[in-house]
Amino acid sequence: MAESQPIRIGHGFDLHRLEAGHKLVVGGLHVQHDRGADAHSDGDVVYHAVTDAVLGALAQDDIGQLFPDNDPKWRGADSTVFVKEATRRMTDAGYVIGNLDVTVILQRPKLGPHKPAIRANLAALLGCDISRVNVKAKTHERVDAVGQGHAIACHAVILLMQQG
Ligand code: MG
Repeated sequence: MAESQPIRIGHGFDLHRLEAGHKLVVGGLHVQHDRGADAHSDGDVVYHAVTDAVLGALAQDDIGQLFPDNDPKWRGADSTVFVKEATRRMTDAGYVIGNLDVTVILQRPKLGPHKPAIRANLAALLGCDISRVNVKAKTHERVDAVGQGHAIACHAVILLMQQG
């Protein structure tokens, strides 16, 4: 358990391979595409990176330790369960969201039209006002595997504030 401090920062990163025959789920949204994340769960890089950012801020291990990818229980899992568990731990530790900043890296399709819905999903799951959540999306300039459409990646930085 983390020592109680007024503010704590956390960082999360995730990447999944994109393959034909899988759904692409980004921030809780099903995004139409010719490929999706080849992952044990639904492969939602946004929810995985945010979960790790919250756990990081709390100094409580990482998503892989909490939800092992060799556990059949999490096969095809809706990644909302991971964010909900991280949020429960945050609340138990006496923290609320200061703010969250997310960057999704995907060559195509463009995520711009989906950003408001992803923000709303995150704010609802984390129990905070939408003004505390930002979602940015960018391509990888056609460079490397992400830029060639073989993978999707996400970075998340979060600030937690001690409640009351
Ligand atoms: Mg992941």
